[in-house]
Amino acid sequence: MNFQDILTEQRTFFNSQKTKNLKFRKMYLEKLKEVLLKNEDLLYSAIYLDFGKSKFDTLTTEISFVIKDIDYYLKNMNFLEKPKRVRTNLANQLGSSKIHPEPLGCTLVIGAWNYPYQLSLSPMVAALAAGNTCILKPSEVAENSMKAMAKIINENFPKEYLYVAEGGVEEITEILKLKFDKIFFTGSPKVGQIVYEAAAKHLTPVTLELGGKSPAIVTSSANFEVAAKRIVWGKFVNAGQTCVAPDYILVDEKVKDSFMDSLKSYIQKFNYQPDSEHYTRIINDRNFNRLTKLIDEEKVFFGGKTDPSKRYIEPTILQNITWNDAVMKEEIFGPILPVLTFKNFNEALLQIAAYEKPLSAYLFTDNSEEKENFISKISFGGGCINDVVMHLSNDYLPFGGVGNSGIGHYHGKYGFEAFSHQKAILDRATWGEPDLKYPPYTEKKLNWIKKLL
Ligand code: NAD
Repeated sequence: MNFQDILTEQRTFFNSQKTKNLKFRKMYLEKLKEVLLKNEDLLYSAIYLDFGKSKFDTLTTEISFVIKDIDYYLKNMNFLEKPKRVRTNLANQLGSSKIHPEPLGCTLVIGAWNYPYQLSLSPMVAALAAGNTCILKPSEVAENSMKAMAKIINENFPKEYLYVAEGGVEEITEILKLKFDKIFFTGSPKVGQIVYEAAAKHLTPVTLELGGKSPAIVTSSANFEVAAKRIVWGKFVNAGQTCVAPDYILVDEKVKDSFMDSLKSYIQKFNYQPDSEHYTRIINDRNFNRLTKLIDEEKVFFGGKTDPSKRYIEPTILQNITWNDAVMKEEIFGPILPVLTFKNFNEALLQIAAYEKPLSAYLFTDNSEEKENFISKISFGGGCINDVVMHLSNDYLPFGGVGNSGIGHYHGKYGFEAFSHQKAILDRATWGEPDLKYPPYTEKKLNWIKKLL
């Protein structure tokens, strides 16, 4: 398939104005919901083949997530696309001012493999809701999931409106040479740079949803039971292959021992043994080998078992970790949880601030001053107080990184805005205008202007 031909068809289709019609967009979003639900079994089996992701996790973190997005836009599109009236300054009286959201045009969405459906389809849904055409390129790493999306969408949608491109680095490299009106990328900071460079050649705006090392801080006033339960779930869901999973823990050294015992007891309770159906596998051998090298056997507090034949890595807690350990030098993106300690809360914040800005950060505490310092002293994309991961499930919050963890954000109205241009229109009355700004300029006019400005 020639990607340039598809893009040319999409551009012609976009220029026909059809995608700007609200009824058209609603019809296709409803159709998308229908075909996804009709093909639910295919989606479950494909992702299970890719990395053993359970039906429960696939429903809660992927399919229902996308359906929720479709429902959100079906309900809110009327309002989101409406021109918004704003104030008009004195110099522009008599006039009225409005912001008219308009679709950017032909968009490209590039997904990551770790939540293959959510991270491909959610931005794609936002692109369509905002009135764009879209080429979606899911990650080839979750190959069966990519094929399932391509089958479901390409069989049910006209390619001049929406098309799923299959393939790997070679294909995406070709696609990135084309001129899009928006590129939305989810993946690593390293590939994010490649995408940003390609986009710059055409001055194409980008949203980059990247990764990084997201800390979870546990202070002495935290409720350990709640902290341990939520951290264990958020870290080991999807076997730690989650961009917003807590990458490492910083715990007050006074409470380290009892907190680590709580962590251990929840891991045992949630049963992540090799035969458990609900525990996801590592995506491929390359990542399995990378992760097992990060487990320093002398520092294992809990876990550490691995099985290459099943690409199984037991939830593993590492202790006595310093910033010099290999596990602290890269985003872990797997079920390994290093625990570091601190003596002073503000020093812990300084340590975090010395590294790249994380995508997420989490604080467990009952102390309001610590909450304020956490929010104001360190920069990160978004996060939670007394929870992990869940901020991304609230559509009323923007989701995205900052600095090395990304550019821009989406979800809910922020997704619609990510794929829209805010066109500013000043509409002036044709009567009642003073002559002040027109030549010939006089001293008297200048004095009036000075007073007015
Ligand atoms: P990746 O950067 O390797 O791949 C992402 C996408 O880029 C894939 O579709 C892939 O086909 C494409 N790609 C790979 N190499 C390319 C190249 N040379 N040129 C152009 N495109 C290329 O990332 P990944 O392994 O799929 O995902 C893991 C990373 O993504 C982690 O850093 C994680 O934190 C991050 N991530 C971020 C979010 C978020 O929402 N911010 C979500 C999930 C994952």
